[in-house]
Amino acid sequence: MRKIRLRAPGKINWTLDVTGRRPDGYHEVEMLLQSIGLWDEIILTERREGIRIVGDLRGVPRNGDNLAAKAAEQIRESCGLDAGVEIAIHKRIPIAAGLAGGSSDAAAVLVGLNVLWDADLPEERLRQLGSRLGADVPFCISGGTAVARGIGDRLTPLSPLEGIWLVLVKPPFGVSTASVYEALSMESRAGHPDWKKAYDSLQAADFAGFPRGTANVLESVTRAQHPEIREIRQALRKAGAVASSMSGSGPTVFGVFPDYGQARRASEKLREHFAKTSQVYLVETLGEGVEILPSV
Ligand code: ATP
Repeated sequence: MRKIRLRAPGKINWTLDVTGRRPDGYHEVEMLLQSIGLWDEIILTERREGIRIVGDLRGVPRNGDNLAAKAAEQIRESCGLDAGVEIAIHKRIPIAAGLAGGSSDAAAVLVGLNVLWDADLPEERLRQLGSRLGADVPFCISGGTAVARGIGDRLTPLSPLEGIWLVLVKPPFGVSTASVYEALSMESRAGHPDWKKAYDSLQAADFAGFPRGTANVLESVTRAQHPEIREIRQALRKAGAVASSMSGSGPTVFGVFPDYGQARRASEKLREHFAKTSQVYLVETLGEGVEILPSV
């Protein structure tokens, strides 16, 4: 039985803007996205028939509702195949955290099955299939740093912002992306980001300039439901972050640090500060998304 092992990295939003709403109800976005060094591991093993999800799933669905299973269905339908696969997921990315864990698993399955089932679809087609599953899936396929527009399907890749040290703080609850978008009022969207300003300042390592470009229009919505977001941003600032922002629809907040040493010291302080209430991750930004790993 052939096997493929993949790395499925999470993402953060350097910026997130909602630019409109389509007649079909989908929101149009403009976001500067970034792959991060926190990933799920996916192992795909050929099976005679059926799509089976196994592994260390930490509460995500084991049935056809899993985005990884939906991704496999997309390839099967698109290519008229009736091949089977076992999808083993080792989850490390926290769930419903604004870090695109499910989207990245789906992206990895699209990339992996394209090889395992010899489907040979071009990356553009994988992105199209992915956009039916979630706004972050097209980005997660190629990853690195990119601007995503439309419903996340129109990507402009940028020279990747690699090796920037971040500390992520994930409070002990998840947030439903759908409910945050539902609560967003298109009239009162506050604080629009300027992704170009944010990108240029990060690329020039001008961390002081980054806060002038960054913003996430969903943050006020999530913060109204979870005031803890403000407290986390304050704690990150106190621990030395040069900037902080919420990722996606939250609740994870990331702080940006000028170097590894400062980020590591801050992560230790924050682990102590939040004790058992929030998870703290020390991560570096990555230059790419889904990657096929050497077999085990
Ligand atoms: P995004 O940032 O893309 O909006 P998220 O990181 O906030 O997403 P996910 O971790 O992807 O959220 O989970 C969102 C929902 O999707 C959860 O309710 C979860 O049960 C469901 N889900 C389905 N498949 C998966 C998967 N493979 N991994 C994680 N969640 C999944």
